[in-house]
Amino acid sequence: GGAEPSFKRVLLKVSGEALMGDREYGLDSTTVERIAAEVKAVVEMGVEVCLVIGGGNIFRGISGAANGMERASADYMGMLATVINSLAVQNALERLGVSTRVQSAIPMTTVCEPYIRRRAVRHMEKGRVVIFAAGTGNPFFTTDTAAALRASEMGCDALLKGTKVDGVYTADPIKDPTATRYEKLTYLDVLARDLGVMDASAISLARESDIPILVFSITEPNGFANIFRGSGRYTIVTN
Ligand code: UDP
Repeated sequence: GGAEPSFKRVLLKVSGEALMGDREYGLDSTTVERIAAEVKAVVEMGVEVCLVIGGGNIFRGISGAANGMERASADYMGMLATVINSLAVQNALERLGVSTRVQSAIPMTTVCEPYIRRRAVRHMEKGRVVIFAAGTGNPFFTTDTAAALRASEMGCDALLKGTKVDGVYTADPIKDPTATRYEKLTYLDVLARDLGVMDASAISLARESDIPILVFSITEPNGFANIFRGSGRYTIVTN
């Protein structure tokens, strides 16, 4: 970190895995509640927050395809998994008194709103947290790409990518104790060196939209909220 970023509107990408806590599968309610509490704290600082939630804690299209399923069908299952997670996070936020809307890229109007860009913008202007579910709505994509897409559509000042570690390292910090964290990287560094921040289509889109990506730890308590308090640890990816 260092310099205090002053973002007015941000998109937070939370992977499905981050919602598992220490479990092997599914959702850990304590973890979901902690993340919701951090989102609430950031909203109360006057920041407009929207979320994209992954589904990897429940189902990934790739694993379905590996077991012989048609990839597109398996990906739809993965997208449905993100809707389950989104409803869980919505519930946790609303219990904390944060008004929240889920918008799904795959319309399922009994359960949540369909994705309507202008309506999502309006919700955010009113201080509501918007959770974008079902990824991009298309198979063969990921929720990382959905995050870059929605951040672009919403005109976000930053895309915050919550991971297990507090940034991008020269090597895997869990395996290699000499690994050091990058303070800054360019989109092209990430692409050329295949640094695994997000998939290449997400990086390309963020680059085109000129939206900085902050990679930080979502497993660490206050990892998200501290970014807005000026004491966050992260790697920032810009042009
Ligand atoms: N998915 C998809 N299109 C999208 C977003 C997601 O097909 O635009 C599917 C894909 O099968 C993916 C699954 O949904 O494996 C869960 O999303 P992801 O793997 O991105 O979740 P995360 O790793 O963030 O938990």
